[in-house]
Amino acid sequence: MKRPEDVLKQYWGFDSFRPLQDDIIESVLDGKDTLAILPTGGGKSLCFQVPGMCLEGLTLVVSPLISLMNDQVHNLKLKGVTALALHSGLTAREAEIEYTNLRNGKYKFVYASPEKVKSERFLWSVSELNIDLLAIDEAHCISQWGHDFRPEYLELEGLRKELNCPCIALTASATPKVVQDIIKYLKFKDGNKIFKQSVKRTNLNYVVLKEEHKSERLLRILQKIKGTGIVYARNRKQTAAISDFLHKNNIASDFYHAGLDSEEREKKQTLWKAGKIRVIVCTNAFGMGIDKPDVRLVIHYEIPDTPEAYYQESGRAGRDGLESWCVLLIGPSDLEKNEKWVIERFLDKNQVKNVFNAFCNHHHIPYGGGFEQLYDLDANELNKKYKLKVQDLYRAFEMLSREGLVSLSESYAMSSRIKILMDQEELYWFYVKKTEYEFFLKTLLRMYGGLFDHYTPVSEYEISNKLHHSVNEVRQKLTRLNSLKVLEYLPRNEQPQICFLEERPRNLPYNTKRWNHLKLAALQRWNAMKNYVDTINCRQIALGEYFGEKKIEDCGKCDNCRNRKRDRSSEIKVFREILIQRSIQNKIGQKEMKDLIEADELKINVLRDLMDKGIIVRDKNGNYQHK
Ligand code: ADP
Ligand code: MG
Repeated sequence: MKRPEDVLKQYWGFDSFRPLQDDIIESVLDGKDTLAILPTGGGKSLCFQVPGMCLEGLTLVVSPLISLMNDQVHNLKLKGVTALALHSGLTAREAEIEYTNLRNGKYKFVYASPEKVKSERFLWSVSELNIDLLAIDEAHCISQWGHDFRPEYLELEGLRKELNCPCIALTASATPKVVQDIIKYLKFKDGNKIFKQSVKRTNLNYVVLKEEHKSERLLRILQKIKGTGIVYARNRKQTAAISDFLHKNNIASDFYHAGLDSEEREKKQTLWKAGKIRVIVCTNAFGMGIDKPDVRLVIHYEIPDTPEAYYQESGRAGRDGLESWCVLLIGPSDLEKNEKWVIERFLDKNQVKNVFNAFCNHHHIPYGGGFEQLYDLDANELNKKYKLKVQDLYRAFEMLSREGLVSLSESYAMSSRIKILMDQEELYWFYVKKTEYEFFLKTLLRMYGGLFDHYTPVSEYEISNKLHHSVNEVRQKLTRLNSLKVLEYLPRNEQPQICFLEERPRNLPYNTKRWNHLKLAALQRWNAMKNYVDTINCRQIALGEYFGEKKIEDCGKCDNCRNRKRDRSSEIKVFREILIQRSIQNKIGQKEMKDLIEADELKINVLRDLMDKGIIVRDKNGNYQHK
């Protein structure tokens, strides 16, 4: 078996593991079920990718989001490791080709969404695949106490039974209740191991500011603290407005949200990463898979709903270990406003039914139909036609996805894909006939590997940069080559889509008990967030306690710690004055001095200093007096 250190060096080019990574990997290779709790950006992927490379067979990774899957598959491919992402965003033909590739041992890693994993087609193939490690990423999704419960995760139990191999579960944030659920539902065997890294981040300064004029305060902060920043806002409109305001005040900024088209998002991301845009104002759609080490400042313009979200988003600051700031701005009525949002997210049964029926009518989906089909969720169209609130649309489908009826496929997170349909020789003859395509195709082949075998994610934007064409020209060329049957071109769908995981039911699933439970859990998390805002204790301790961490020391640098230090230093100044005045008026006896000092280190130092300087001296009876 290859050694983990060698794999790390050979494929990743890193010299050493980060704290806990090596212990986690050892535990996995020891055959133990293992839970790894490391903060976002802590390097969880390596914890299953490295042992996966050491082991003989295939590693199966369950991951909830297409964007996360594609990101990791892409990165593995760059390292020369074969990997596949299997999810409902693939066409049926794509999926069939990939199942064949899988059976033929073409892959070392297969990433799959939980709804794919529970499908009969998949379970049926499993026995033919030599899977020797099961990794469950974002494992908190299994718990109804977690901030992102997904019912399909509960069905992973079946998969575990099917596979006879160790399981590694990974998450960034797990409260004690969530940890319990992970171990229970993933059927961890005796002798399992849990590794947990402290929540504390010693280079981050957490600050909460109650502020009537948030925009001016934001500006002042950005003027005072230099370096790259992220500003999190609540909605799309707000991101544009804030960015505009900053721009007018000479701060290089731009905005980002999921409603922009893919080229625009990619462009903005690239510019920000390269340091050409200093501040990105965004919704929480920004940040996933983005790994910029030198973010100096993360400012929340609106308060997040959960400590999990806050910890994750603010934690994007200071990955390089240098001093950085996490600021939460709170306006006068923000807390009440947000609490209302948290509650409103839980629609009642009739509201959900209305949305669902309208959606089915719109797409002509009969009862008993729709199974495994993808439908566009065109919010604007549905809003116009059926007078449905856009927000309620998303909320209703979020709820139905929590019931396991549908999944919200973030197809906009999926790149366009290309597969070449000809072999090398046919392609050669095509060049001879159509010389105008030769350079274009050769560039494609140079940019992307595996085009002959797989549907390969490509970026029209990237291609256009390389060829100095416009994005539109690239699209036209690809479409043309598609109709000439040289390649198959699956352009990215900009619309979010709904995938039916079951047939359209006559009665909508609405598990009142579960819904109430989720609502309760959401309110508990929101209350924890309010506690974070209101606490007068160390902010890092407050976060640590929420995640079940004991014994963290004061960070000494959050606003509360700094205030306390400031209070202390004025208290000590006053104490010094008192000692001087008292000793001028009267001698201070030994017992009296002891009471005054209260065995307080700082106060003892004050006395020592006064005596060193000869301001206070002791007489022969041991009393203190002014000189
Ligand atoms: P997580 O899943 O915990 O959020 P990732 O697995 O995405 O984090 O890793 C975050 C970044 O840290 C990646 O860019 C990865 O290459 C880097 N990284 C992980 N482990 C190491 C290591 N041992 N040395 C250097 N960089 C590492
Ligand atoms: Mg991860």
